[in-house]
Amino acid sequence: MSTGYLPAAPPAPGGDTLTGWLRSLDVLLRIPAELRNEQVGRAVALEMLRCGEPILDELIASGLLHGGERGAELFDRFDLVNLSLYSGSGTSVPEETMKFALRWMHEHPSSLFRPRAWDYHVELSCDRPGGCPTGERDWLIARPQPEVYAGWTESLTVEPVCGDGIDLRSDGDPLLAKGVLVTNGEHREIRSARIREIVSEYPSADYRWARMPEQLQWQPEAVLSQGYAPCIAVTLDLAAKCRAAGFPARTRRGWIMGMLDLAHSWLEVVDEDGIVKAVDPAFAILADHHSERPHPEFTAACYGSPLNRLMPTGHEANNPIMGHTCGGAASTPKHRTMITSQDRQPTRPASDTSTRSDLSTHDDGGVTP
Ligand SMILES: [Zn+2]
Repeated sequence: MSTGYLPAAPPAPGGDTLTGWLRSLDVLLRIPAELRNEQVGRAVALEMLRCGEPILDELIASGLLHGGERGAELFDRFDLVNLSLYSGSGTSVPEETMKFALRWMHEHPSSLFRPRAWDYHVELSCDRPGGCPTGERDWLIARPQPEVYAGWTESLTVEPVCGDGIDLRSDGDPLLAKGVLVTNGEHREIRSARIREIVSEYPSADYRWARMPEQLQWQPEAVLSQGYAPCIAVTLDLAAKCRAAGFPARTRRGWIMGMLDLAHSWLEVVDEDGIVKAVDPAFAILADHHSERPHPEFTAACYGSPLNRLMPTGHEANNPIMGHTCGGAASTPKHRTMITSQDRQPTRPASDTSTRSDLSTHDDGGVTP
């Protein structure tokens, strides 16, 4: 399926930026009414878009959805981000932030295939105004599992309590997890012609990436049919297609390390050589549309290779990786994440006898040949 979409050409310096904004509005992802959250005021919107009042007014007149009164409009944050990302303005905050966050895609992919050590620090807190009411409460965050891709955990402490399943849990005080984690990657290529065919269904020439409520991504057809292939939606769709074609496959949820603590999802499929291949069409789309100078070999690395920028968890793409309950109700906790790369080249501790072949036999529910 093709949407015939072509990325908006960046405007000439000093040229007509309005055209770029209007073109972006034309193809803006439609977020259904029940998932919209129009809370961003006009002043904050102008700070994000950096387009100036006349262009914002033009966008409103041209159909940019909003609540609030005229002159005091309220916008959905995802709309503003997505509108900016494909505006071609080059100056909006989302465009600049994304370019900065994707700098690691400039490196030769070989830098993504070796162990890399990270300082990891995550604190959860309650998003209710005033914090948790009295009574029982608990907290949950998916356990980082660098072992899935032959990385290892140098240290990991969780306060106040640690669960031993695929989630770290605590009850009582907010959860704090910290440690040193070593991710790993390996160059792999897809052998099966059929798998190649399936995973190439979402080329970056035809699909965009966008931010949206997670619940919308759980309905892949609603998103993919609009010409958007964000990570959760695209991997759920591809996993189903791989399984239908007879290849064991699963989706994998995790985090992109050192990149705005963004949660991410990708596909794992067992190839005809019996080796699990990691497939990440959303990364390929991000590289092609939003990275300043993606390495020419980066996209190929997204089709087969686990990368040391990914921290796997035991969860599937459509499972939440954080949770909180208090006052008898569940909510998504606020989180403060600090993940920074260490300069040293880590070496595997002698006590760690795992090997890369663990990938196909890992007992966290991973796919097996
Ligand atoms: Zn709470």
